[in-house]
Amino acid sequence: MKNLALGRLSAIPAQLARWSLDMLLPPRCMLCGETVAEPGRLCAGCWPMLDFIAEPLCPCCGTPFTLPVPAGMLCGACLAKPPRYRRARAALVYGGGGRDLVLRFKRADRTDLARGLADLMARAGAALLQDADLIVPVPLHRGRLWRRRYNQSALLAQALARRSGKPAIPDLLQRLRPTPSLGGLGRQERRRALAGAIRVNPVRRELLRGKSVLLIDDVFTTGATSGACLRALQQAGATAVDILTLARVVRPELV
Ligand SMILES: [Zn+2]
Ligand SMILES: [Zn+2]
Repeated sequence: MKNLALGRLSAIPAQLARWSLDMLLPPRCMLCGETVAEPGRLCAGCWPMLDFIAEPLCPCCGTPFTLPVPAGMLCGACLAKPPRYRRARAALVYGGGGRDLVLRFKRADRTDLARGLADLMARAGAALLQDADLIVPVPLHRGRLWRRRYNQSALLAQALARRSGKPAIPDLLQRLRPTPSLGGLGRQERRRALAGAIRVNPVRRELLRGKSVLLIDDVFTTGATSGACLRALQQAGATAVDILTLARVVRPELV
C-alpha cells in the first residue's frame, strides 16, 4: 500500500516538472529558436528558407519537375531504368535551411525535433503511409548508435507510427558492420561499400512476408543506402517498398 502510494506520488512531480518546463520554455521554431505557437513548428521567417518538395513530381522517384507535365508522367531516369522501390518521397530539398534542419536533428542531440519533422514527412508521404503495413527505419551500426546515442531514422519512424497508427519495427533491419562515409564515392563504390552490410533481423523475418514496407531515412542522396535496405527487404519477402525521407538531394550530380 505504502509502495503504491509512493509510486503514484513520484509520478506527480515528474508531470509537474514537465508542465512547469513547458510554461517556462515556450515552444521554439525548429530552425532558429524563435517563439512559436506550438512545439514542432517553424516561425514565419524560417518557412521560406526551406525548399518544400511539391507537385509536379515524378510519381515514382518523387523528383520535382521544373515545368508542368501531364499527370502520371515518369521522369527520364525512371523511364530509362525503373527503380526497384515502388515510390520515393521527401519533404524537403537537402540544401540551405533543409540541410541545417537535418544536421541539427542528426548531430546536435535535438531529438525533440522528431515529431515536428515527422509531421512534414507525413504530409509529403501521405499516400505511402496509407499503403504501408510496416514502418522500418534505415539501421545504424551499433558502434555509431553508441556514439550518437540515437538513430535519427528510428525516431522519425516511431513518430510516424504514432501519427498513423501503423507499426514501426526499429530492429527489423540490422547493419552488420560500420560503413565508411559514402560522400565522394561513385555509384559502384557506394554499392561495394554497402555490400552485405545490411540484413533483415532473422527473428523479425516472418513479419515481412507479403507486406508493404515504408522505409524511413533522414536524407536520400544517391539511394545507395536505401537500395541496400531494399534488396534485403525484398529478398526476405516484402512485396513492395516505398521510401520516405525528410530531405533529398535533388540533383546528386551537382552536390
Ligand atoms: Zn525560425
Ligand atoms: Zn522518377
